[in-house]
Amino acid sequence: MTLAELRWATFRIFSYSIVFVNILTLGFFLYVIGPYTSYFFFGDLRFWKYSSYFHKYFFYSTSYLKSIVLKKEGFALFDLPLTAPPMDSPDPKIVQLAKDWKQPADTCGECSTCCNYLAECCFYDKSQKQCLCYGTLFWSFFNCGRFPFSKEQISVLKCTKFEFIDSTDGVGVTPPQGKK
Ligand code: SF4
Ligand code: SF4
Repeated sequence: MTLAELRWATFRIFSYSIVFVNILTLGFFLYVIGPYTSYFFFGDLRFWKYSSYFHKYFFYSTSYLKSIVLKKEGFALFDLPLTAPPMDSPDPKIVQLAKDWKQPADTCGECSTCCNYLAECCFYDKSQKQCLCYGTLFWSFFNCGRFPFSKEQISVLKCTKFEFIDSTDGVGVTPPQGKK
């Protein structure tokens, strides 16, 4: 394991521990560490602007975990190694923008399937049809920024924006962008 991988793994274990403690305290722990919570999810230390989301995250995280356990393919589909590097967009060596994608590359248009597949994400702004966490630690270190990272994800979630590259050289493809 490299030093960078150790750092990423430590950060993920630290983050999972926070989620665990938050669930044990019925969602109050995120308020106790408000500035960090706000920075982690929204990239902003001004926690008072985002505190309405803290308890929503408690319900979201419990629903997400329940779904991971109950949905047969849930865990396998979103399993992320602790040592994986943070990513702000899908890996251009394995996925590219679908040839039939008509919208701009930095949007998913009306679609939010991957955000709501396991549980309805509390950070998806339905009125603006966009993610509120774009580019933050939460986005980069977990499943959001890097989605999709497998052929199965594209297929099971019927993602119309990305397609898997069978040839792995990635030359000449349109770089994918992860903003949702
Ligand atoms: S990445 Fe694919 S499945 Fe996810 S919101 Fe965009 S188009 Fe939908
Ligand atoms: S991309 Fe944003 S809206 Fe979608 S699951 Fe991640 S945090 Fe939620």
